Amino acid sequence: DATGSITAKDVDSFIHHHAPLCMRNLHDSLRADKHLKHGGRLQYGLFLKGIGLSVEEALIFWRQAFSNMSDDKFQKEYAYNIRYNYGLEGRRVSYNPYSCTKIITSNPPSSGENHGCPFRHFSHNNLEARLRKDNISGSHVDEILALVRNKHYQLACTKHFEITHPQNKEKIDNIEHPNTYYELSKQIAEK
Ligand code: SF4
Repeated sequence: DATGSITAKDVDSFIHHHAPLCMRNLHDSLRADKHLKHGGRLQYGLFLKGIGLSVEEALIFWRQAFSNMSDDKFQKEYAYNIRYNYGLEGRRVSYNPYSCTKIITSNPPSSGENHGCPFRHFSHNNLEARLRKDNISGSHVDEILALVRNKHYQLACTKHFEITHPQNKEKIDNIEHPNTYYELSKQIAEK
């Protein structure tokens, strides 16, 4: 159990260095808009829970992130859902972070929403621009886009992992879960 291994103030740096593109996209959108819609809060909130953010730290993180919102509104409309995800409200079920298959095949984002899988849900042009912005070389971008064109979204993500972790010489299993991507990236950095 990773609970407690990360605090609200670590999130920026840990996400930047270790999270897969779906979660970095959600994090960047949250920082840019100081808000995330429901689907994004759910996908990202459960991911953060999975990497070890406790409910207390999650409440701090989201309160600070929604910096344009009154405390009253936050407590009334958002704090409940955060506690709910941790099994402290409602049905008292502790929810698990979403797998890649779930993110790729259910509830596609509509405009203005930022959840989903960039390899599956970004337009070709947006994905290419995002990869280039992350300084991925032209030939590597082409490799990733070729996999996406053939609908091999998780293989594209696995390739993305390999390209962005060149210090890792071992073959990795195909990425099937965003939290696995994150844990693997951290393990490699700690070696
Ligand atoms: Fe996230 Fe999975 Fe898509 Fe990778 S393949 S970006 S981990 S949903």
